[in-house]
Amino acid sequence: MPVLRMTDILVRPFKKTRTGGMPVLHVVQTGQQPANRNQDYSIPRERMVERLRDHYQIKDQRVLDAMRSVPRHAFVPEALQGRAYGDHALPISGSQTISQPYIVARMTELLEVNGDSRVLEIGAGSGYQTAILSKVAGQVYSIERIANLAREAQARIRQLNIYNATVKCFDGTLGWAANAPYDGILVAAGGPNVPEPLVAQLKVGGRLVVPVGPSREAQRLIRVIKTETGSKQEDHGGCAFVPLIGQHGWNQ
Ligand code: SAH
Repeated sequence: MPVLRMTDILVRPFKKTRTGGMPVLHVVQTGQQPANRNQDYSIPRERMVERLRDHYQIKDQRVLDAMRSVPRHAFVPEALQGRAYGDHALPISGSQTISQPYIVARMTELLEVNGDSRVLEIGAGSGYQTAILSKVAGQVYSIERIANLAREAQARIRQLNIYNATVKCFDGTLGWAANAPYDGILVAAGGPNVPEPLVAQLKVGGRLVVPVGPSREAQRLIRVIKTETGSKQEDHGGCAFVPLIGQHGWNQ
């Protein structure tokens, strides 16, 4: 028996009754199945977008639209779906995490890509950031070192009818030379320094956004912009990512 909600009922006018003229409210169900209004989490998702815009000062409308259009709850374990739109990271399988929405939005904004851009992502994890990138870029290549995560991320992305993103399993600190050069490269795990192969695979003017720090626990969010003669670096503040493990990252 579905739960009756105010939007599913017709209210008939008051009638005089034999009970001393007391008005009686007659409620009749319309027969429509009550849609669960929050089944698609559109309300918490909209609140998340408002928080990104108003509190975190995310300005790029294309990034905000991407955050509004991708169902983040589809990328977290079922038991955590109710918390998918909160202001925090969440655990996914393989002891990894899906980044806090603000970090996803900020890194995407810092990439400054558009519908013609080719983007490389290192650390697909759940595939959520991959899906966001697919909405703002032309083509997205993503690498994940844990095979199960790579497979699941690719499956989720296809299920959402996203066809401009591919996830493969290997060491992303080496980059993906076959599709280089890239307009933007986003690294979703923290390493001891900027992986050189990634800078080499950027176009001149291209942006690499990567968390870098001397310990596995804390990093600075670094943006590297490739120039004609080398590259320049900007520091975009403190952050904490899971470790980037590979030839140009941490050992195991
Ligand atoms: N952006 C992801 C968050 C992933 S957490 C999301 O939205 O869900 C970081 C991921 O980087 C982890 O899944 C980890 O396995 C992966 N990773 C770490 N080192 C890597 C490497 N060298 N190459 C590819 N992936 C790596």
